[in-house]
Amino acid sequence: MKKTMGLCSVCERGRLALGTGELEKGVFVEVFRCSECGAKEYDLEVAKKIEAFYQARARKRSLIKLVRVLAVTIPADIVSRHKFRPGEKILVEEKNEEVVLKPVPA
Ligand SMILES: [Zn+2]
Repeated sequence: MKKTMGLCSVCERGRLALGTGELEKGVFVEVFRCSECGAKEYDLEVAKKIEAFYQARARKRSLIKLVRVLAVTIPADIVSRHKFRPGEKILVEEKNEEVVLKPVPA
């Protein structure tokens, strides 16, 4: 694993310093942080672990057919963590191959 400090590929000014990042409470990974802009970069093997972590956390949901649209239920723990309420508007965005649900910014 590469431990050397390199130049930030985002701002091209700052130096990358190895530190620890927290994916979620109690789940830590090694991360390189830029001293100037704060951008985060990961080693390839750490990036692979992060992707596997999020894939393992993703849960299967069934699509429910309503009149002309399909709906999906959101797991209760995610609802409570994001404080979603019935009738609340959320943003549905397509990002490459993914569909992302986001709270509407206040
Ligand atoms: Zn930077």
